[in-house]
Parts: sequence; structure tokens; C-alpha cells
Amino acid sequence: MNDTVISHYKTRLEEYQPIVGSNIIDELKLLGSHLAGRKVQNINSTFSGGGVAEILARIVPLLQQLGIDATWDVIQGDDAFFNVTKKFHNALHGRDESITTDDLDIFMETSRRNNESTALDADIFYIHDPQPIMLIERKKSLGGKWIWRCHVDVSHPDKVVWKFLRKYVVGYDATVFSSPEFSQQLPSRQYMISPSIDPLSDKNREISQSVIQSVLDKYGLDNGKPMVVQISRFDYLKDPLGVIQAFRMVRKGIDCQLVLAGGTATDDPESTQVLEEVRENAGNDPDIKILPIPPGSDLEINALQRAATVVFQKSLKEGFGLTISEALWKSKPVVATAVGGIPQQVRNKVTGLLCHSVDGAAYALKQLLSNPDYAAWLGKNGHEHVKQNFLITRHVKEYLLLFLAVDNPSEIINL
Ligand code: UDP
Repeated sequence: MNDTVISHYKTRLEEYQPIVGSNIIDELKLLGSHLAGRKVQNINSTFSGGGVAEILARIVPLLQQLGIDATWDVIQGDDAFFNVTKKFHNALHGRDESITTDDLDIFMETSRRNNESTALDADIFYIHDPQPIMLIERKKSLGGKWIWRCHVDVSHPDKVVWKFLRKYVVGYDATVFSSPEFSQQLPSRQYMISPSIDPLSDKNREISQSVIQSVLDKYGLDNGKPMVVQISRFDYLKDPLGVIQAFRMVRKGIDCQLVLAGGTATDDPESTQVLEEVRENAGNDPDIKILPIPPGSDLEINALQRAATVVFQKSLKEGFGLTISEALWKSKPVVATAVGGIPQQVRNKVTGLLCHSVDGAAYALKQLLSNPDYAAWLGKNGHEHVKQNFLITRHVKEYLLLFLAVDNPSEIINL
């Protein structure tokens, strides 16, 4: 496990007590005691960039504090491999991608090398997303329980890719999806666990106005006019060009500025091209700021979300969409497309506004910018909704229950 990635994330379990109450903490300790010393090895394809890395960095140290021998490793791959897995990702989301036999060969060849080189040692192997899926081939020799955690909505996948991946999926003892609507018919047991945010991480904790101001200064942002913010990797599925289009429609009538901030992920070679296109589209417009931000810029993201008047998430497809919970936790009014896990978080007209098109996004944005009281009410409701449903403590509890269930499939556990 790369300790440098997670070492500074060590928040103590007790620190969550003022936010969620002592019963929740006691419950986690009780569940953890039934798994004491069990080895749980998480594997994905990147230590930084995107929601999966975000969650693992926070959840692994908490599992360790609860007595579980939790670790986190990544598989290796070159650009050719990650180009293929990005195509898989898009195709699983239903986007048209031509997957060739060469692509499948590249995937299998790199996966075989990973199967040989990845050190695996656990009671429970927790494999995240398609990139490391072929590690299941080592189940026969290693034994243990194997869980595939799918963070992608695979309800309407490209048939070729799903048929190819399904061969491996069915080898797992259990699969986990973020929502019942995201899954597929499978012979093994399926669990639904929605992701979460950590209210104590640098990305979400309370920060002072002076920190916010220093970030705005650093990026040359003027908070004198309403600021619309979308934080996302530069990815076509996050529709940055659609955001610019909607923003331009609204700005005709309301003076405002747009911030598109995001980085690239090491497992997403397409992002540099998207960033170029976005820059070209924004041109010299002084009200549109494109901010490429390096990995680990958590405080900056926190500050930008807090400085936002409205947070946008105009994704065309989405897994869960952690950025939504991050914004709602900060009591921000949100305009987001009704895709993937977003409607779980944005209850239309209660915790934010959902849209289905550029026109709809523009209409919703205009509504929020011209009705600050309504916007504040939505943001307040959003904060409460996240507190009840999408904090890391709920997530840890569901992971513990999942581990107990796969570890003791036929036992009644007396808690
Ligand atoms: N994020 C980040 N840096 C960036 C862009 C995004 O740290 O440049 C974070 C963002 O704050 C969120 C996560 O990465 O915590 C993105 O998760 P989400 O589920 O929204 O989308 P994904 O990237 O996994 O598709």
C-alpha cells in the first residue's frame, strides 16, 4: 500500500462523534470487533483522481482503526491499457465505442502481467471497477472471499464489453453496486452500498473565509460576481462544453462567472484532449476560468465549492457523483443532470434542481441566481440529506456488514 497517499488522512473515529452522535461510533466499534484482524485488501487502478481513490483514501484508515487489517494497492498499466479501460468505462455507460479484438488483447495481456506481479494476501479481496477485474483468476490458488465493487452504472452497457467482463464478474462471491438501478442480473449475491463523503477531510471540513479568499486570489478569481462552479475531471461525460453553453445563455441576462476546475486522472489518458477542447471553446472569455488543478488539491476544491454561488454537475453519465454530496454538505444550491446516482442526492426542488438538457440547465441556473432565498433553502435541505445518507460513517458500517456477510455466508452473527 502506498502509505504516502493515505498517511496524512488519519482522522480519529471519535472525531465524527459531534457530527453523527456516539451511538453510530459505538455501533461501528461493535461491528469492527467481529472482524478484528481480518485482512481486507482493496485494489483499484489509481491512488489519485476520481471518486474511487477519494473514498479509499478515507475509508481504509477508518477500517484500520476498527481493528481490520485493511490495505490498498493499485494495479499497473501503460497508456495503451488505460485507453482501453477508458473505452470500457464509456461503453459500460452506454456510449458508442468500437472495441476491437486488439483492445481486448491489450486488456488481457496487461491483466495477466498484473496477475503475476500484484502481491495479494487477504481474507477478503475487494476489487474496484473493471481495470483489475481479472485478478479473480487468482482466486483458485489463493482462496479467500472475493468482492467486485462496481462504481459504474452498468444497467445499459455496450453488449460486447459487458459480455467480456461478465465472465470475470461471475467468479466473484459478491458484487456491490451504488444503486439497485445500476446493476445487472448475476448469479452471485449483490449488495447495494452508496458512496459517501468524509465531513472531516480537507475537501469537506469547515474552513475559514481567509482560506477561501487565499484560494480565490491564487487562481485570480474575483468573488464580486456570482460564481458558478463545476469541479470535475476533464471528461466528455462530465459535459464541460454543455456547462459553458448553459452558462453563456444565462450570462446574457445575469452578470456571473463560470469556474471549471479539475485535473486529470492517471488512469484517464483522454482528459488532456478534453481540457484542450474546453480551453478552445472558452476562448478569451474573461468570465470563464478553466483551472487545471493538480491531484491532492483538496483544500482548493473545498474553497472553490464554498465560494460558489451555485454548483453545477452537468454530467451526461455518472457513477454516483461525489461532487454533488460535497457541494450539498456545504449547503450549496446545485443544478445537476438526472443521471446515475445524482437523483439519489438531488431530490428535485427539495435538495437542488435536476435538469435534462442544456436549456434545462440554463433555466435552473437562472432560477437559482435570481432567487437567493430559494437557493439557500435548497442548500440547507441538501446539507441535511447528506448528513442523513451520504457520510462516511454510514458507508463504513455498510462495508463492515458486507464483510461479515461474505465472511460468514451461512452463519447468524450474534452482534
Ligand atoms: N476531484 C478532485 N480533483 C479534480 C476533480 C475531482 O479531487 O480535479 C474529486 C471530486 O472532488 C470528487 C471526486 O474527485 O471527490 C470525483 O468523484 P465523482 O464521483 O464526482 O466523479 P468521478 O471522477 O469518480 O467520475
